[in-house]
Amino acid sequence: EKWVYLFDEGRGDMKDLLGGKGANLAEMTRIGLPVPPGFIVTTQACNAFLAAGSRFPEGLWEQELTALRKLEKRAGRSLGDPENPLLVSCRSGARFSMPGMMDTLLNIGMNDAVAERLAARTGDARFAYDAYRRLVQMFGTVVLGVPDEPFEQVLEQHRRQQGVENDAALPAEDLKAITESFKAIVREKTGRDFPQEPVEQLRLATEAVFRSWNGKRAVDYRNAAGIAHDLGTAVNIVTMVFGNRGEDSGTGVVTTRNVSTGEREMEGDYLSNAQGEDVVSGTRPTLRISALKELHPKLYAQLERYCQKLERHFRDVQDVEFTIEQGKLWMLQTRDAKRTAQAAVRIAVELAGERLINRKEAVLRVKPEQIDFFLHPQFAPADKKAARERGDLLATGLNVSPGAASGVVAFDADTAERWSKEVKKAVIMVRPETKPDDVHGMLAARGILTSRGGRTSHAALVARQFGKPAVVGVSAMEVDCEKRQLTVAGRVLHEGDTVSIDGTTGEVFAGPLETVIPDLKDPHILKLLEWADSFRKLGVYANADYPRDAQQARELGAEGVGLCRTEHMFFETDRLPHVQRMILARTDEERDEALARLLPFQREDFLGLFRAMNGQPVTIRLIDPPLHEFLPSHDELLHDVTELETRLELLKGKPEAVGMEATLASKRRMLEAVHSMREANPMLGLRGVRLGIHLPALVRMQVRALFEAACQCAREGVRVFPKVMIPLIAHSNELRVEKETLEAEARAVMKERGLKVAYQFGTMIEIPRAALTADQIAQDAEFFSFGTNDLTQTTYGISRDDAETGFLSEYLSKRILPENPFATIDQRGVGALMEMAVRLGRKTRPTLDIGICGEHGGDPKTIAFCHRIGLDYVSCSPYRVPIARLAAAHAAL
Ligand code: ADP
Ligand code: MG
Ligand code: MG
Repeated sequence: EKWVYLFDEGRGDMKDLLGGKGANLAEMTRIGLPVPPGFIVTTQACNAFLAAGSRFPEGLWEQELTALRKLEKRAGRSLGDPENPLLVSCRSGARFSMPGMMDTLLNIGMNDAVAERLAARTGDARFAYDAYRRLVQMFGTVVLGVPDEPFEQVLEQHRRQQGVENDAALPAEDLKAITESFKAIVREKTGRDFPQEPVEQLRLATEAVFRSWNGKRAVDYRNAAGIAHDLGTAVNIVTMVFGNRGEDSGTGVVTTRNVSTGEREMEGDYLSNAQGEDVVSGTRPTLRISALKELHPKLYAQLERYCQKLERHFRDVQDVEFTIEQGKLWMLQTRDAKRTAQAAVRIAVELAGERLINRKEAVLRVKPEQIDFFLHPQFAPADKKAARERGDLLATGLNVSPGAASGVVAFDADTAERWSKEVKKAVIMVRPETKPDDVHGMLAARGILTSRGGRTSHAALVARQFGKPAVVGVSAMEVDCEKRQLTVAGRVLHEGDTVSIDGTTGEVFAGPLETVIPDLKDPHILKLLEWADSFRKLGVYANADYPRDAQQARELGAEGVGLCRTEHMFFETDRLPHVQRMILARTDEERDEALARLLPFQREDFLGLFRAMNGQPVTIRLIDPPLHEFLPSHDELLHDVTELETRLELLKGKPEAVGMEATLASKRRMLEAVHSMREANPMLGLRGVRLGIHLPALVRMQVRALFEAACQCAREGVRVFPKVMIPLIAHSNELRVEKETLEAEARAVMKERGLKVAYQFGTMIEIPRAALTADQIAQDAEFFSFGTNDLTQTTYGISRDDAETGFLSEYLSKRILPENPFATIDQRGVGALMEMAVRLGRKTRPTLDIGICGEHGGDPKTIAFCHRIGLDYVSCSPYRVPIARLAAAHAAL
C-alpha cells in the first residue's frame, strides 16, 4: 500500500487521504508556488497505526525513509549531516481543520553535533541554538510527555537575568545554556536522553502526531464540532525554512481579504526575525501585514500576487501561513478562511462579481442563519470585551431571539410600557416568565429577560415574532417581582438599574453597552437575496397581525401574509372591554351591540393590512383561542371576590359599602361566567372552528369587517386578495357548515357595496384527522395552511407549553428525541402527515394552494422539507423572511 506521497504526487482534492493541510501543500506545489519540499504520510497510515495498537503498518517506515532520501537529494543536504544539515517539521493535519488541537514539531534533525557545526559555519550561534532549544522543548512535551512548566521556568529565569521581555532577545550563550538545561529536564523527567539520532527523532515524532489524533483536546473538539472520530490525521514532513535568520527574515499569517468586513484587502500579522509559532502564540506583539510593505515592498507585492493566485485557484478567500528566509518567500499553508456573517455575504457577492464563482455558488456560500446578523442590533465588540473584563458578565441563558439591547430593568408590563412611552426610556422587561397579558410591555420594551422558560416559551415566541432581543431561562438569576429586584452572580439589581442582553449569544451584562446597527440596506445582502429569489421555487410569506408588521415584512421581501391572527387585535386595551362584554352578554341584543362596537376596529385593521400588502394575498385566520383567554383568570377573580366579601362584612351599613357592592356584583358575574366556561383541556376544547360554530355572530362580524375593508380598498383602487382561513378543522362537515354561513355573509357585503373582490376560503391543517381526510376537506377548502405548532402538539400528544420547560428538555439531553420537534419539523411523523395531506388535497383539487404558517416556517431545515413535498409557500415572522428566502433558494439548488 502507498502510505507516503511527495508534495508533487498529491492534489488538492485528496483531502480525505492527505488531510486538508497536506492536500493544499501539494496543490500549492502543483500550481508552482514556492513551498518547501516535503511529503505526506496518509490518514490511512494513521488509522492503521492506531488500529494496530500504535504500530507502524507494514512498509510505512521504509516509504518514509525513501521519501526522506528524495528530499535530501533535492535539497542537497541531509538529515543529521553536521556539515550540511537538513531540518524538517513534522506537522499534523486532518481532513477538517482542528486549529491547535493536534501537535506539530519543528527543527527535527537538530542535535549536539549539528548545532555546534551550524553555529560555527554560519557564525550565527544564536540561530543554531534557538532552533535546537525549540526542538528539545517541543520534543520533550509532545513526544515524551514532559510537562511544559519546567521548560518555561528555565526560560523565565534567563529572561529575568538578562532583563529582556521575550526569548528572541536572549543572546547566544543563554540559548546554548538553555538547550543544556532542557536536555537535563528531559533526562530527569523521562530517565532517558534526548535522542540525538535524527532518524529516530523523525520516527518518534511521526508516532506522536498519529497519537495526537486521540488526544483529549482533539477528541473534545471533534465532539463539539461534530467531526467523526475515525478519519485520522495525516503527517506532513516539510523542509524547514527559517524566519529567524535576521532582519531580512520573518513570518506571518494573512487572509487574502478582510474576514471581518469582507473588504478586498489583504489582512494579517507579521513578525520580523521570528518563527511561525511566535505569531500565533502571542509571545511577541505582532505588526500589521502592511508593515511588510514598508520593510520589503517587493516581497509584499510578491505575497499579494501569490494570494491572488490562491484565491483564483481555490475560488475562495484563503488563510495563508508564510515565512521569509533571508529575502526568499515561502508558502507554508493555505485553507479556506473563516469569516463573519457580514464578510461571508460581501465575499460571496464580490467573488461572483469577479466571476470566480457563479451566482448559485454565491448563494450557497452563505448560511441562511447568517442573514440574521443584518437584521438585529449588536453590541460593539470592544465594549463587550471591556464589560467581560470588568466582570460585568452576569450570566448566560438561552439565546432565543437575536439582537442586543441595553435598558433599565422593569418588572412588569405596565411599568415597562409607561417608562418607554412616557419617560422615553429604553426598558428591558424582566420576569420569571411571560404571559399573553404581558405583551404590551414586551412590545414597549427593547428586550426581554426571563429566569424560566425554554426556546418556545411564550417570551421566546413573542420576542421572535416582533424581532425583540430576548434571553430566557437564565436559571442562575432570581427574579423577585414583589421586592422588585433580581439577584444573579451575587449581585442585586433593582428596578431602574441598567442591564444589557445579547439575544444572539444569550449573555446578560450589568450596565449599559453600546449597540451598533448593521446596515439593513447593505448592497451586498440585497444583491445576494435578489439572486436567491431568482433560484427559489417556494413563495415566502410573513405572519403579520398588524399593518406595521406587514409593511416591515414586505420591505424584507415577503410576498404575502400567510397568517394574520385576528384575536391579537382583541387584546388591545381599547377593545378588550367590548370583547369581554360580547363574551358575557346574556342576550343576543347585548352581544350584537358589543360586536357592532368591535366591527370598525377590525375593519380598520384589515384595511391597514390590505393597503400594506397592495394586492398580495392576505390570509386572515378567524378567531382561534378559547374565550377564557380574554377574561381575567379564575383564581384571580375568586381572590378578589372573597376579599371584597370580607371587607363588605366589616363595612356593613356604612356609605363606602355602596360602591363596593356594585364592584362585587360585577366581579361575581364575571367569576360565574369564567367558571361556566372552565374546561379541563382548553387547548382541545371550545376553540377554533368549534367556537365559530358555537358563536356564529362573532365570526360573521369578522368576515363582514374583512369584506367591507376589501370593498373599500377596491373602491379606492387598492388591489386586494383576502384569504379567509378557518382554524382547527378536524372533520370536513365543520368546514362545510362554517364556509356556508360565512360565504353568505361575504356575498351579502359585496352585494351591499355593489362590488366584487376575488377571495378564497380555506383551512388550516393542524389536527391529524384533517391531514388523514384531506381529500374530503379539499372539496370545500380552496387552500391549506399547515399549522405545524398544533399539528406537532396533537400528533405527539404533547402540550408544548408544559413540555418545553419540563420533560422535553430531558428528552433532548438524553437524546430520546434528536431535535426539538417544535423548532424543526419532525419529518418522519408530522412530516408524513403533511405529505399525505398534500397528496390527498391535490387529488381532489389539483390547483390547491398549500403553505405552512407554524413557527417552523422560518426554520431552514423545515423549509427544505417544505420544498421537497411541493408546498407553494412558507410563512414566517417578518424578521425571518430574508432567512427563509435564502433557505428556499438553498432548497432549490
Ligand atoms: P497549526 O496547524 O497548529 O497551525 P502547523 O503545522 O501549521 O500547526 O505549524 C505550526 C507553525 O510552524 C506554523 O506557524 C507554521 O507556519 C510553522 N511551520 C511548520 N512547518 C514549518 C517549516 N517547515 N518551516 C518553517 N515553519 C514551519
Ligand atoms: Mg498552521
Ligand atoms: Mg393552531
